[in-house]
Amino acid sequence: MIRSNPALAERRSTRQIKVGNVPVGGGAPVSVQSMTTTKTADVEGTLAQIYALKAAGADIVRCTCNEQAAAEGLAQIVPRSPVPIVADIHFHYEMALAALEAGVSCLRLNPGNLRKPEEIKLVASEAKDRGVPIRIGVNAGSLHPDLYKKHGGATPEALVESAQMELAYFSEVGFDDVKISVKASNVPLMIGAYRLLSETVDFPLHLGVTEAGPPPAGLVKATAGIATLLSEGIGDTIRYSLTADPVEEARAGRQLVEALGLRERQSLDLVACPSCGRAEVDVIKVAKAAQEALEKLNLPIQVAVMGCVVNGPGEAREADIGIAAGRHKGHLFIKGKIVRVVPEDEMVEALVAEAEALVREGTEERLKKADAAAEAEAEADRKALLEDKGIDANHTSEKIEKIRRKLEAASD
Ligand code: SF4
Repeated sequence: MIRSNPALAERRSTRQIKVGNVPVGGGAPVSVQSMTTTKTADVEGTLAQIYALKAAGADIVRCTCNEQAAAEGLAQIVPRSPVPIVADIHFHYEMALAALEAGVSCLRLNPGNLRKPEEIKLVASEAKDRGVPIRIGVNAGSLHPDLYKKHGGATPEALVESAQMELAYFSEVGFDDVKISVKASNVPLMIGAYRLLSETVDFPLHLGVTEAGPPPAGLVKATAGIATLLSEGIGDTIRYSLTADPVEEARAGRQLVEALGLRERQSLDLVACPSCGRAEVDVIKVAKAAQEALEKLNLPIQVAVMGCVVNGPGEAREADIGIAAGRHKGHLFIKGKIVRVVPEDEMVEALVAEAEALVREGTEERLKKADAAAEAEAEADRKALLEDKGIDANHTSEKIEKIRRKLEAASD
C-alpha cells in the first residue's frame, strides 16, 4: 500500500486506532468511509447497501443507531458485514450502549447532541471495557449552544473546543481510543477547523464537508475541503457527504485517494482529452462508451481516450493504454507506443479487448505482440493531419487577427 506521496506534504504523524480490522492513523493508508441510507432495522437491505459500498471502495461503513430496532438490526448486520461497522449516535446514550452490545467496531458520538457528562462518561467507559474506539464527531450545524455563544458562532476555535471538552470527559474515565472530526458545510471553516485541530491533538482525524449537497456541486465542495487538507498531510480517513446514492460517496472517496496517489489503484481511471479543433472524433461520445464498457470490467488501470493522433499518444504516454483518433482510424497505444490501428467504428471494442489482454498478460507481453506496421501507419496519419490542418488547428492566429481588428476599429 502507498502510505504517502512525495509530491504532497508529509503526512502528519498521528496515533493509530483500529476500527475493526482497519487501522486508522499512524501512517496507515487513508481509509474511505460512507454511510448507509436504509433503515438499519432492514437487515437485508442494509447489508446489500454495505456490500455495494465496499465494491465501490469503502473500507468502513456507518449505520445510524437511532432506535432499539436499529440496534437489533446491527446485531445481525455486524457478523455478516464485509467491512467494519460504525454506529452513529446522536441524542440517546442508551443507543450507544445497545450498539456496543450489538458488536459494532466503532461509535460516532455527536457532542452537540449528546451533552450530559455522566452519560458521555458511561458510554466511554463501556467502550473502553470492550476495546471499541469512538469518533468524536463535531458538526458546525449542531454545535453545543454554550460554545456557539462563547465564540460568537461556529468558528474553528469553537469546533475544536467542542472536541476538547469531549476528550476531557473521556480522559476522566481513562479512555483515549479516539478519532475526531470537525465538519462544517462551509469549506473554509472546515479547513480552518481541521488545521487548528491537527495542531492541537495527535488523534487520527476523520475528514468531511458535511451536507455538501447533490453532485456535481457537492462533489466539488467535498473535494475542495478534503483534498486541500490531505495535500497538507492532514487526515487519516475520509467521507464524502453527498445527497446522492451513497455508492457515489464511496466511489468519489476512493477516486480521490487514488488521484492523490495515497492509495493503490483499485478502479478504472479514465483520462480523456477535452477535445479541440484538432479532434478527429466525438471525444465525449467515445469516452462515455469506453467508460461504460470498461467500468463493467472494473480493471485497475489508467485508460486514455484522445481526440487526435497528432498529440494524443504523446500527451497520454503515462496511461497504461489508450486510443487516439485520426483519419477515420483508431490508434491504440500502450504507454505511448502505438500497437495497433483499427477502423474508427471499432475503437471502443478494440480498446476494451486490449485493456483486458493488458491486465491478463502484462505490459511487456502486449508490447511484444504489437503490430510492427502500426507505428509507421500512425506516423503517416499524424504527418498527413499536420499537413491538412497545419500546426494551428485551433485557428488561433485567425482569432488573434479578429481581436486585433476589433481593437483597431474601437480605437478609430
Ligand atoms: S490536440 Fe488532439 S489530443 Fe489534444 S485536445 Fe485537441 S484533439 Fe484532444
